[in-house]
Amino acid sequence: MARTPARLTVLSGPSGVGKGTVVAEVRRRHPEVWVSVSVTTRAPRAGEVDGEHYWFVDDDYFDWLIEHDGLLEWAEYAGNRYGTPVAPVQEQLASGAPALLEIELQGARQVRERAPEAQLVFLAPPSWAELVSRLAGRGTEHPEVQSRRLALAQAELDASGEFDVVVVNDDVARAADELVGLLTASPPAGP
Ligand code: ADP
Ligand code: 5GP
Repeated sequence: MARTPARLTVLSGPSGVGKGTVVAEVRRRHPEVWVSVSVTTRAPRAGEVDGEHYWFVDDDYFDWLIEHDGLLEWAEYAGNRYGTPVAPVQEQLASGAPALLEIELQGARQVRERAPEAQLVFLAPPSWAELVSRLAGRGTEHPEVQSRRLALAQAELDASGEFDVVVVNDDVARAADELVGLLTASPPAGP
């Protein structure tokens, strides 16, 4: 019997909705789930570890990666650049196991172009008020950066219809369970 090809899943959603929290919960319960580590030009937050949360790089190295086709996708977001190193994703999928990317909207759109078979999952807040309070409650950004992220969040929420599945992050454990189910679900049959 032919083996179902390993699936690339993209998790996206507005800043502060809980993407990082839900992915951390998925990894805690299912350490075997492979999650891509992005490169970014943003400075590390307190407690963030190079090579674990992100690869923290400078602008020159980011330029080099773009020029050498080292990124599956990349985007500028709220004043910093973020990208997915392509080689580890290809290796993971070639090994027959699923891969998960946690990226923002412009990157999700690029993945859709380059890998139409990828599954796009949108993590939505239970309400706008809850999103505002989560972003403020995280307390990692200055109010000015928070406002920038909220302005982007409105546009990101408007794009949720472009995604294959919407998961509401009402409860971290429940959303993590739903995401794990999607990672291992067979793709819908083709025409
Ligand atoms: P993102 O990665 O999408 O920017 P985070 O994972 O950093 O978001 O979460 C933003 C804030 O919301 C954090 O303080 C986190 O603890 C909180 N949070 C995440 N998910 C939930 C949830 N289901 N209920 C309540 N708070 C949550
Ligand atoms: P943060 O600065 O809060 O860690 O991330 C800001 C935004 O960048 C989040 O929406 C996050 O999902 C997104 N992001 C993280 N890594 C990547 C990536 O490799 N590519 C893209 N396009 N977005 C990313």
